[in-house]
Amino acid sequence: MRIPFLDLKAINQEIIEEINAASQRALQSGWYILGKENEVFESDLKESLVGGRQGYAVGCNSGTDAIVLALLAAGVGPGDEVITVSLTAIPTVSAICETGAEPVFVDIDPATWVMDVSQVSALLTSRTKAVVAVHLYGNMVDVFALREVLKQANREDVLIIEDVAQAHGASLQGAQAGTIGDFGTFSFYPSKNIGALGDGGAVFCKEEKFYKRLTMLRNYGQESRYCATMQRGRNSRLDEVQAAILAVKLKHLPKWLETKNTQMAFYRDALSSLPIQFQQVTGDCTPGWHLCVIALAAAKDRQTFMERLKDKGIDTLIHYPIPNHQQVAFSRLSRQALPETENLAGRILSLPLNTVLSKPKQEYIIEIIKLVIGR
Ligand SMILES: *Cc1c(COP(=O)(O)O)cnc(C)c1O
Repeated sequence: MRIPFLDLKAINQEIIEEINAASQRALQSGWYILGKENEVFESDLKESLVGGRQGYAVGCNSGTDAIVLALLAAGVGPGDEVITVSLTAIPTVSAICETGAEPVFVDIDPATWVMDVSQVSALLTSRTKAVVAVHLYGNMVDVFALREVLKQANREDVLIIEDVAQAHGASLQGAQAGTIGDFGTFSFYPSKNIGALGDGGAVFCKEEKFYKRLTMLRNYGQESRYCATMQRGRNSRLDEVQAAILAVKLKHLPKWLETKNTQMAFYRDALSSLPIQFQQVTGDCTPGWHLCVIALAAAKDRQTFMERLKDKGIDTLIHYPIPNHQQVAFSRLSRQALPETENLAGRILSLPLNTVLSKPKQEYIIEIIKLVIGR
């Protein structure tokens, strides 16, 4: 048996007729940037996140750009500090750096593997402008608790940006990920919970003032055609073909998440007697699993474990092998020790988890893991 980590072709094939119809419609329209398809997708996305309540979704070019745009709309720039975790995809950190601000790393909670919000107050300085809360692998940061921490520290001026790239569809106390902070940033990179056939992203916000800034920032800083009112404008738009495809995929998201959540429960249950650690779901969170990440008991076992699965035809990956504070690009920024991040980063690996992974294949993966671990 051969089980790829992710087979995007097979995943898209399942809805290929809908994808073809949507992309043909966009192609035939003769209008390719910021048109009807983008408007429909933005409105559907907003509706799926907050229903009839106030809010705005703004399509853009990628999840990285979504973070940059949110930070710029929040007024973050050179000299400012932005608190985030080191255990995240590189773009969370490079997006902060791109604004000229400095990332300040906070450690993770060893059980939930996301930001330890109780450590945030110690890192606040007069330069802190925002916190980027990363909902890693599908689990969420307790954004309500983070809000409370900022309030207790008398720092309600610090804005919260939820990086929802890995947790689209997760919720906390019934609120969708991305709708609790001041901004929620989404990625539609092909492998994410809904993936474009190329790049794509979106920012969600509740305040009209931020919405206006976001629409200007993504379109050269223009308030209207050929009139620029924002200096740091750029070109970051979601094209019409991707928007049309994403609107199709958004409708399938609840069903896809159910499939992946069921697979995750199956892994947890079947592997529970082994010395393998799973990410503990944050209290009150309904996860939207993007990745099935497990942690082995010891870092020294990881390479052999992955090789032995590979020998049996099973592909695994590491998300991520080098935490950001140890990356060449960012290591000079690291100020405090991050023991939990370092401890976990050496032991994690990701198992196949996707909408075309059949039950027999998952059973096979589980059987091989039991064999490899020797129980
Ligand atoms: C994928 C990802 C991003 C970046 O998204 P792109 O669309 O690839 O730019 C940002 N943050 C996290 C946590 C991600 O997983």
